[in-house]
Amino acid sequence: TNPVYTGLPTTIFEVMSRLAIEHGSINLGQGFPDVDGPEDLRRLAADALVAGPNQYPPMMGLPELRAAVADVDRRFYGLDLDWKREILVTSGATEALSDIITALIEPGDEVVLIEPLYDCYLPLVRRAGGIPRLVRLTPPEWKLDVAALEAAFSDKTKAILLNNPMNPAAKVFSREELAAIAELCVRFDAYAICDEVYEHIRFDGRGHIPLMTLPGMRERAIRIGSAGKTFSFTGWKVGYVAAAPALLDPIAKAHQFTTFTTPPHLQKAVAAGLAKDDAYYAELSGALAAKRDRLAAGLERLGFGVVPCGGTYFVSADVAPLGLGANDVELCRRMTVEAGVTAVPVSAFYAENGPSHFVRFCFSKRDEILDEALNRLGTWI
Ligand code: PMP
Ligand code: GLN
Repeated sequence: TNPVYTGLPTTIFEVMSRLAIEHGSINLGQGFPDVDGPEDLRRLAADALVAGPNQYPPMMGLPELRAAVADVDRRFYGLDLDWKREILVTSGATEALSDIITALIEPGDEVVLIEPLYDCYLPLVRRAGGIPRLVRLTPPEWKLDVAALEAAFSDKTKAILLNNPMNPAAKVFSREELAAIAELCVRFDAYAICDEVYEHIRFDGRGHIPLMTLPGMRERAIRIGSAGKTFSFTGWKVGYVAAAPALLDPIAKAHQFTTFTTPPHLQKAVAAGLAKDDAYYAELSGALAAKRDRLAAGLERLGFGVVPCGGTYFVSADVAPLGLGANDVELCRRMTVEAGVTAVPVSAFYAENGPSHFVRFCFSKRDEILDEALNRLGTWI
């Protein structure tokens, strides 16, 4: 019989969410807020849906959304992007990643990837025939070893894929680390695929530095954002890509043959969202910082070894101090079934042999849900 490609795994988010539903567990596994984003934006989307048109919007995205992306990037980062040539709207950051890898990576191209890896990176790179060159960060420090990173680059390197702020490490890369990455990209003539979907979710005064703003990177970096994260509409699947025309053109070609476009009413609402004042953005991080502290303090009290979180809405915790004698995968299964609380095993974010005693919790949940999860864990442990 004709063999079928079996290289695509089932994502850990699907595995854990399915198990959570089956057992009526509190789902702190898959990352999504349990309260929807701004009501004014939902009304705007609803009104636009009713008023129409509900036909294919332009392939590159609604002009008003593309202009809004360029405006907000100028406002926060001083980036000077020409929305007509340098911004593309996609159906979520996931589609953006797929388009970019389809467009850029040819069989035999090497791609530098930093573990822990967001779920789709490795499958997409491999499916494109790319050769992953893995550089590992390990908890609790998640320290970037610049010498190891340098060793992963070669004259076959096509690109590095960088997630900053980083899921699940909750690490925000420092300017020095970013400068080292940029220097390697320039030296090895590599592109940088920058997954910056958590750009507006950072804590304790940390800023966000798009790699694109560093010397030599304006023409090499491809920047990805998502309304799922910035407006707490993960179900909308509205993403955007910024890149120099020579890069954006082939990416837009891939987009033509993937989704071609994204629902117009959602694009319209996201355009209005991006124009919100600075207070909106500050409040997003501020509210999440309080939730991070709430969950982290509760986990500490229960004996988890909580790993510091500088950005994203995830916190990882060392389960070894609990002495429950199971690896992270088994522990997450048991926690769901026995305690009624779901987390994600951190080893799932490694190609193989990852750290085996850390689990990731999503804290973008109502306070009473976080408290109930902590109660359940307390009873269980
Ligand atoms: N990249 C990272 C690091 C993410 O955490 C996520 C979403 N959870 C995505 C990409 C995908 O974003 P979207 O839902 O917009 O496709
Ligand atoms: N990004 C989310 C997470 O890290 C999940 C997204 C998804 O399920 N595809 O949990």
